[in-house]
Amino acid sequence: MKGRVAILGAGISGIGAAILAKNKGYDVWVSDTNKIKEPHKKVLKNIEVAFEENKHSENVILSSDIVIVSPGIPLTAPIIGKIKESQIQLISEIEFASWFAEGKIIAITGSNGKTTTATLLHHILINRNIDAELCGNVGNSFAKSVAEGQHDYWVVEVSSFQLDTIEKFKPYIAILTNITPDHLDRYDGKFDNYVRSKFKIAQNQDCNDYLIYCNEDDATTNNISKMQIKSNLLSFGIQRFEGSNAYVQDNKINIEINNTKFDMKIEELALQGSHNVYNTMAASIASKMINVRNESLKTALATFENIPHRLEFVAKVSGVTYINDSKATNVNSSWYALETMPNDGVIWIVGGVDKGNDYHKLKTLVDKKVKSIIALGVDNDRIIEEFSPLVKSIYSTSSMEQAVLTAYQIATKGNTVLLSPACASFDLFENFEQRGDMFKKIVRAL
Ligand code: ADP
Repeated sequence: MKGRVAILGAGISGIGAAILAKNKGYDVWVSDTNKIKEPHKKVLKNIEVAFEENKHSENVILSSDIVIVSPGIPLTAPIIGKIKESQIQLISEIEFASWFAEGKIIAITGSNGKTTTATLLHHILINRNIDAELCGNVGNSFAKSVAEGQHDYWVVEVSSFQLDTIEKFKPYIAILTNITPDHLDRYDGKFDNYVRSKFKIAQNQDCNDYLIYCNEDDATTNNISKMQIKSNLLSFGIQRFEGSNAYVQDNKINIEINNTKFDMKIEELALQGSHNVYNTMAASIASKMINVRNESLKTALATFENIPHRLEFVAKVSGVTYINDSKATNVNSSWYALETMPNDGVIWIVGGVDKGNDYHKLKTLVDKKVKSIIALGVDNDRIIEEFSPLVKSIYSTSSMEQAVLTAYQIATKGNTVLLSPACASFDLFENFEQRGDMFKKIVRAL
């Protein structure tokens, strides 16, 4: 037996960690202060891992050699303080998985664009017949994927919560898409803490590794020189700066690395919208670092199918377009959604759990593009208060059905009904997927 591992949290990452730890010969035990979902319990029983729910038994946790903490558990939780005091090794699931992953890690973090960039990069690599696995916050957890078999490349989507408890996690390529305020409730309300957490993606990199970042993102560019980064820096942005590795010129994206050049018309990219130009540039730079040829990259960028809930076209009903952007759970992502809208006839469905949102940044766009607002949440007061000086037509709703039917009644030909909530979904829905799926179902039945 290698040692005792306690896993806190029995969600997707906790279960993945349990599978891998068991597979590697550890004595594994899982503890969750909430009820564990039935399918997850079934997995634990199948692999013969003991677990407890609705409590944390301190004596067991504190007698472990390693504790793997799930990203949903804040590091301010009392049990975490006790683990640290007992000097037990406290790590995240991605850290643990990285101990056993034999191929190269390409890790993607950032406030927005992680899933899109990771999925696109994975598509580019498999289109070139490279053995790459997509995992982390998208699809399987990193640990579960590693338990299932080795790959040459791991394309891992990583959240700041996972990065908070890494020790040796060392990506060959790290992509930092952008840093804008999000999850500040978990960072003492301090943006600086959140920024530092995002930069941990590069903390163990050395001169053989690469960090790809956005040179137009203020929080990134203002902090990068303070972070003692040892890896090679590669950058992208729409404008062309001295030394940029990706930029836009003459309506084309241009990638320039190690004397190689690639360009492609923006209109030929499968992913549209200016935010996706950034994501495409980031993924393209990474693919060039693993020698994907220009022709193959072009085909992959033209054939990528966007993932659901991200500016997803749903239907056109009586000349009105319905778009599902349920994944927009913060202000910055809704900013891009509004910016992408073609005209001033937007009926915007917004609201949910407000994570301390600063709506100020949206006001110019809302003034320009939004015709009506449909607030959707348990508590809509804040949305109404913030936007009523700008938009006269505001409705307060508390179910998706009511929101869509209201939109349907007030929309006229040429309008766009945009679900882009800028908030988390947990007040009325299980998650953003359920929120988006309900929107689509109701729209399709109109
Ligand atoms: P994440 O995985 O980081 O949450 P996604 O790729 O799932 O990011 O996209 C989430 C939301 O953010 C979507 O609504 C999308 O429209 C928006 N978005 C995607 N990429 C960017 C970007 N580079 N900058 C700002 N917003 C973005």
